[in-house]
Amino acid sequence: MQPYALVIHGGAGTILKSDMTPELEQLYMEGLQSALDAGYAVLEQGGTAVNAVKAAIVVLEDNLLFNAGRGSVFTKKGVQEMDAALMDGATLNAGAIAAVRNVRNPIELAAEVMHNSNHVFLSGKGANDFAIKQGIKLEPDDYFFSQFRYDQWKEIRDSDNYSLDHTHQNIQELMKDKKFGTVGACACDQQGNIAAGTSTGGMTNKKFGRIGDSPVIGSGTYANNQTCAISCTGHGEPFIRAVAAHDVSCLMEYKNLSLQQAMDEVVNHKLVALEGEGGMIGIDAKANVSMVFNSAGMYRAMRNSKGEQIIGIYKD
Ligand code: ASP
Repeated sequence: MQPYALVIHGGAGTILKSDMTPELEQLYMEGLQSALDAGYAVLEQGGTAVNAVKAAIVVLEDNLLFNAGRGSVFTKKGVQEMDAALMDGATLNAGAIAAVRNVRNPIELAAEVMHNSNHVFLSGKGANDFAIKQGIKLEPDDYFFSQFRYDQWKEIRDSDNYSLDHTHQNIQELMKDKKFGTVGACACDQQGNIAAGTSTGGMTNKKFGRIGDSPVIGSGTYANNQTCAISCTGHGEPFIRAVAAHDVSCLMEYKNLSLQQAMDEVVNHKLVALEGEGGMIGIDAKANVSMVFNSAGMYRAMRNSKGEQIIGIYKD
């Protein structure tokens, strides 16, 4: 049996110990642990990397603390629009959805696109229609509400300074809370197949149908057995422009860099040059895992068949 592993994230940003209460920290740690346990159980039982990724992400989507599924951030119009993607490194099959509403587990819909449509990427009402047709579980608006995200949105909803095309100064203002809370997972299974998935509510106060990097194959999510599986989190626009996840794969494929070296290059050099704050998790087909971020913190966890487990929030 070959080594297997799972790595997950719950978002990156200015996550400082000084802003955290011990109780909240405990809740985040428990949230990460239960997602890790759910995904790892699939691998332990001989399940596929794709199913392990899905299982971990569903737990994070159901957790109000993370900006994905239940607890997603509010758009300018005061609703939740969610994005997600899933990619299978064994086949290079992928499924992604953007700007969907009322879908309880957006990662399940991305999986449905991957397995049961002739397409890769569905958006908006069409994606919702597909969800209904496939019998994907929907929930009323109330289900997605969290007071915490609502207060965060209320603070900036009337501001003119929120748009991501605005100056850096304004982006900094928008993100003064730095509540990136996107979730993601990457797995390597007992067959040596790898997969990646990412799910998000995007950015608070987003408008005009803005879509971030998370559901964009190659930017926020990518998997290829020959190189790596990657899930990103952070300020989506620079990640899209850097084609961040695929760039890690290219550095491994064309320059023979290790997973860790390639992720370092993209996160700490290329993204920094584009003012792309955030991070990513990655895995290769030998079950090597890396978690790299250029922000103050990233909710993250990993576990592997060698018996190693790490759960972290801040930069150590
Ligand atoms: N990358 C996501 C986006 O830009 C946000 C996040 O990671 O929290 O939509």
